[in-house]
Amino acid sequence: GNTSVPRYRIFKIVVIGDSGVGKTCLTYRFYAGRFPNKTEATIGVDFRERILDIEGEKIKIQLWDTAGQERFRKSMVQQYYRNVHAIILVFDVSNPASFRNLPLWLEECRWNAQGQEVPCILVGNKCDLVHQGSSVWAGVKGEQVRKFAEAHGMPFYLTSAKEPEGQRDHVGAIFMSLAYRI
Ligand code: GDP
Ligand code: MG
Repeated sequence: GNTSVPRYRIFKIVVIGDSGVGKTCLTYRFYAGRFPNKTEATIGVDFRERILDIEGEKIKIQLWDTAGQERFRKSMVQQYYRNVHAIILVFDVSNPASFRNLPLWLEECRWNAQGQEVPCILVGNKCDLVHQGSSVWAGVKGEQVRKFAEAHGMPFYLTSAKEPEGQRDHVGAIFMSLAYRI
């Protein structure tokens, strides 16, 4: 029969960045609309889906949450970069090392994208830990971040998976804008 099974286009988005920057919490907030009660370290890859309405078309956003410590496990890495539509590169604004490691993550992306141009956005998470309007986030300079994002042609957003109230929340907006770009 001609049953009307809903069909959606699927956009696969991979979330990467150092361990502890908040990838799992961001993914959870997108999926469930709130901060998780408790999180466990991500083992391997986990994914969560949500359907968005983009200009009348239903799009299934499939967010792949990855584990930082898996960075050098080639087989795993290849699996999550396969057929990827976009990449969300996350660092923690209160952790300078997570910012300094971004080039390593970009290198991994480039290595695995095999010449494909995959849209990538930069996310500075945990902005709730930083004073609003401050130009230095616990050692990471806002100016430095903006330069980095510009040099790599990535849009940059500040987020808080934990306290998204107020104008500094961009979690929802990020996924919308990414879906539009894809
Ligand atoms: P992952 O390793 O990148 O997946 O990081 P998790 O999502 O597991 O988060 C690591 C820790 O940071 C946990 O203790 C979270 O509660 C905390 N965390 C995540 N996002 C935020 C945030 O936006 N603000 C604050 N203050 N803490 C956060
Ligand atoms: Mg995790």
